[in-house]
Amino acid sequence: MARIPIEEGFFRIPDDPAEPPRLLGSRCPSCGEVFFPRRLVCAKCLHEGCEDVDLSTRGRLWTWTYCHAPLFGKKDADVPGYGVGQVDLAEGPRVQSILLGGPDDFEIGMELEIDLETLRENEDGDEIVIYRFRPAAEYFNGVA
Ligand SMILES: [Zn+2]
Repeated sequence: MARIPIEEGFFRIPDDPAEPPRLLGSRCPSCGEVFFPRRLVCAKCLHEGCEDVDLSTRGRLWTWTYCHAPLFGKKDADVPGYGVGQVDLAEGPRVQSILLGGPDDFEIGMELEIDLETLRENEDGDEIVIYRFRPAAEYFNGVA
């Protein structure tokens, strides 16, 4: 059984199941600006030919909200709701993402880490997955 991204080109899944997924970004070789999702032409200096880079697996929560409706694409209608946040990565991009946790689990500025959520299985038994962010492990360990 494999894990397959819901759409190609936004993230990749390492072969090691213990490894987090990596968002696929672009870095401009001329001015150094980093983008997500990937792009060919730099939006800052218009240089053509941005290079592919893997982005950080952690980020800081810039803002968030909580949706009281089942996640789009989920077949399970019993899901109570889900968080949505904008996450600032160390390289610069601000990424919008589903958040794992309840409505009381998030605060602006907290450290998050990326993982995968399975939306459904396809007819071959493979899992169709999206990336999401969740509070970093230290929040659960009482360190933060
Ligand atoms: Zn540039």
